[in-house]
Amino acid sequence: MLDNLTSRLADVVKSLRGQARLTEANIQDAMREVRMALLEADVALPVVKVFINDVKQRALGQDVLGSLTPGQAVIGVVHDELKKLMGEQNDALNLAAVPPAIVLMAGLQGAGKTTTTGKLAKLLKETQKKKVLVVSADVYRPAAIEQLKMLASQIGVEWFPSLPSQTPKDIAASALDHAKRHFFDVLIVDTAGRLAIDQEMMDEIKALHAFLNPIETLFVVDAMQGQDAVNTAQAFNAALPLTGVILTKLDGDSRGGAALSVRHVTGKPIKFIGVGEKVTGLEPFHPDRLASRILG
Ligand code: GDP
Repeated sequence: MLDNLTSRLADVVKSLRGQARLTEANIQDAMREVRMALLEADVALPVVKVFINDVKQRALGQDVLGSLTPGQAVIGVVHDELKKLMGEQNDALNLAAVPPAIVLMAGLQGAGKTTTTGKLAKLLKETQKKKVLVVSADVYRPAAIEQLKMLASQIGVEWFPSLPSQTPKDIAASALDHAKRHFFDVLIVDTAGRLAIDQEMMDEIKALHAFLNPIETLFVVDAMQGQDAVNTAQAFNAALPLTGVILTKLDGDSRGGAALSVRHVTGKPIKFIGVGEKVTGLEPFHPDRLASRILG
């Protein structure tokens, strides 16, 4: 992911080699390259503009210390600004609620919601020793309910049954009741996704949100969708008080620009990234680590 950005940035450093100091002209040239690299990686244009401007300002004001070459100085600024763009540090999942802590999963069909529900349940069970209940409120796709059931049995967490004949709210109410009576720490509610955003879907998830009052409302989005990923995140964020984003399929050949744009556009942190189809393929998102990786 973002390998192209890495090699482009390496070229920028190379081009600054041999320069004695940072001048407005060589910063200008370097920023032209960085701008192109970011756009190629599918980073949203408004984000690119802000980013380039910030880097330029800071690089210009930078006193290149004896030990730093102009290339190193620019890379240092790019690193800091990349981190800032993505939120500096990992935003952990907030489970500080009277149990069960409710996590609502939202997103379009195919984004990886159900898979991620399973992955998250496994992560919480294994790393935080949480007793997790999962339930699907996707009454439109019985296959989605079955998929979650299979995942739950594979990872050894409890699955709460639901039927396509029930309403999402009834399912949520029964699952919540069960979770309370059996002392679950966490209840993860998977929801229906559509191929595109429609009013009915938004109304349904808003009603579910109002009923459950979840401590975490996570938007699951496919990084391969590039700029569209950011646009859908923005639309959901306008309709629902999201608490975070999970960016899936970052293991694929996605250009990864969404990882750089989502935070700036929605104001919400990326909490986890999906890095594979397997149930182990979910990692907390660390902006500093990604910034370092991008810089090679
Ligand atoms: P949903 O419709 O949002 O519930 O999506 P699913 O959970 O059914 O996932 C859709 C497809 O994406 C499935 O084939 C998953 O295996 C795949 N998928 C989900 N997350 C990831 C990921 O992080 N990496 C990869 N490579 N595939 C993923």
